[in-house]
Amino acid sequence: MNNHAKRINFESLVAMLAIVGSLGAAACASGSSGGAAVPESGPAPAIQPMAYDSVLADDVQREAARRDAEDLREVAAEARAANAGRPRSILPFGVTWAPAPEEGSAFGIRVLERPSGRQPTAITGEFAELPIRFGQLDGAWFGLAAVPIGTERDQTLVLSFQFDDGSTYEQTLSLAVESRNFTSSQMSVAPKYSSPSAEALERVGRERTLIRSVLDTASADWLIDTSFRAPRPMNTTSPYGQARVFNGELRSRHTGLDLKGANGDPVRAAARGRVLIAQELYFSGNGVYLDHGRGVYTGYFHLSKILVEVGEMVEAGQLVGEVGSTGRVTGPHLHWSLWVAGNSLDAGSLLEMTVPLGETTR
Ligand SMILES: [Zn+2]
Repeated sequence: MNNHAKRINFESLVAMLAIVGSLGAAACASGSSGGAAVPESGPAPAIQPMAYDSVLADDVQREAARRDAEDLREVAAEARAANAGRPRSILPFGVTWAPAPEEGSAFGIRVLERPSGRQPTAITGEFAELPIRFGQLDGAWFGLAAVPIGTERDQTLVLSFQFDDGSTYEQTLSLAVESRNFTSSQMSVAPKYSSPSAEALERVGRERTLIRSVLDTASADWLIDTSFRAPRPMNTTSPYGQARVFNGELRSRHTGLDLKGANGDPVRAAARGRVLIAQELYFSGNGVYLDHGRGVYTGYFHLSKILVEVGEMVEAGQLVGEVGSTGRVTGPHLHWSLWVAGNSLDAGSLLEMTVPLGETTR
């Protein structure tokens, strides 16, 4: 092997290292124009070509490594900036939910914590195109999804994860919604409820505006700290969703669940929450609305007595009132309601989940 041949080999090697160096820089996503240092051509080497080649090759690699280390922080910062708002590609999160999604109900969803790796700083969700407001509860990401009456069978659960570097990740899951047959009933009530006067309708309008404004404001955090419980023993006298014909005239759907009770029987908070409304309402009679956080509310109506005040925090199981027959009723009972994401749902579904759900994964 002569010197000339060796020289060509050396130049090829340098060129090759330069390419490897620049590829390395691109792979780090530094975006900088720097690559491996390319030695200047100069006089023929004075030392043995073989040794010179290997020394130079080592130098080139060392320099590339040094620059890589130096740039690491900068590269990471640039990658973060480049990732802001961009989708990440990571393994799906474990998700568990209960009960099975059913028309007219709510179901709880928990996103399982990962033993390692980057944790999301926020999760937002959507089911049947309605928002799910996830919040942290006992260190777990938990949210309630609404499945209003009329929701079709095939629906998608969309989970959007946000990370501290601004990147995002989206995960979808197809879930089937069980349909439900709702009964209908004829009812007789005082004429002032089946054909309200203009004055009464105006009052009802004002109350609806008040209730709507209250339901539109969601507490940023979960206020619940236990699973939900029934406000009274679960003796249902009229189910949620029942179609109703009042005095053969007014049609409506039963927006709550009627539980048996006599005048003065205790009515307890289904979970910890804040009292948003505690007053007499035209159709609902004496009513209490509780805010449980993250867009979840329960209501207790037709009370003979209200035992809480607006703004007060109540604990799960605390007395909020007494059973009565105020408002549009045929007799004393408790009308128990649930709203999630602005939709009236069957409050009974709250009792079919533990909060914030167990560890079964999918
Ligand atoms: Zn009712």
